[in-house]
Amino acid sequence: MPTDDTKVQKKKAVALLSGGLDSNLAVRIMREQGVEVEAVSIKTPFCDFDCGRGCGHNLKEVASDLGIKLKTIYLGEEYLKMVMKPKYGYGSGMNPCIDCRAMMYKSAKTHMDEIGADFLITGEVLSQRPMSQNKRALQLIEQSAAMEGKVVRPLSARNLPSSDPEKSGLIKREELYSISGRSRKEQLKLAKRYGIFDPPNAAGGCSLTDKSFSNRLKDLITNGDLNPTLNDVELLKVGRHFRLSSTVKLIVGRNEEENEIVTGLAIANDLLLESIQYKGPVGMIRGNNLGPVLDTAAAVVNRYSDAPRGCASPVSVYMGTRDLQSINSIPCDDSLLDKLRI
Ligand code: SF4
Repeated sequence: MPTDDTKVQKKKAVALLSGGLDSNLAVRIMREQGVEVEAVSIKTPFCDFDCGRGCGHNLKEVASDLGIKLKTIYLGEEYLKMVMKPKYGYGSGMNPCIDCRAMMYKSAKTHMDEIGADFLITGEVLSQRPMSQNKRALQLIEQSAAMEGKVVRPLSARNLPSSDPEKSGLIKREELYSISGRSRKEQLKLAKRYGIFDPPNAAGGCSLTDKSFSNRLKDLITNGDLNPTLNDVELLKVGRHFRLSSTVKLIVGRNEEENEIVTGLAIANDLLLESIQYKGPVGMIRGNNLGPVLDTAAAVVNRYSDAPRGCASPVSVYMGTRDLQSINSIPCDDSLLDKLRI
């Protein structure tokens, strides 16, 4: 029977795991201090997993290597609402990193409460990401998530104010790191020390940091769609996008796989277009007041088909399995494509 003096204080934490190197290292550093860790990974409509500079495609393998339990949380509609109106604004694209991280912290906190964890671990590195990983932003994120003092960032902790578990002596600050900046030199050294011989490359942010994706999202907002659905977001990820009028968009698949995705995403009132005689893409028109722009849509769809330039050929317009009409159309000029492209 251990006496009070010999009793080891139980320490439990939840880690935001991304599958990237930084969060993997963060977990290992904390486990060296005897912390029992469970992991949470966050999926959003724009990013498969918590982006802390990693990519979630091998997340299960990382959790299994670490021998820790993993819970995946999906943030859907509520995340989309936040993206349309983030309290702390956007980064270089449509990435609302501060609000996003705050939502991720809140989700992790729910799991912390469920399992009785003392604190949250993240792989965040000071100054690695311009918007969300500077001191002020990290503080704001903690405040927004009502997590002040409850977040330990083992890779950068000694560059940051002491967290509650450091202050209370639950974990040792002197055994944490003071890494900062975008170089991965220190992390690669640590990876070697922990026997991670094939560390993943640093991943970029989610699709909201991507310029062309952001332009498509901005186009929706600019044209008055302030409540896009998850289906709208999925559609933003595929095909070539054209703005035909303030109320109508055309999406044209770039290959067979995208044609299938575009077709699969069609909902009531979406029109599909395809060349009848020639091999070519599927186009989808989404919006209201379609009539005036149907001919333009047919000409764009024909332009990407094998239809000979300068010659008219029929384009089928259908809705689900219902044929609506056929439009005889000449493939449009590239100058029109440039003008309409989002
Ligand atoms: S890049 Fe920013 S918005 Fe995107 S998942 Fe990462 S923190 Fe969130």
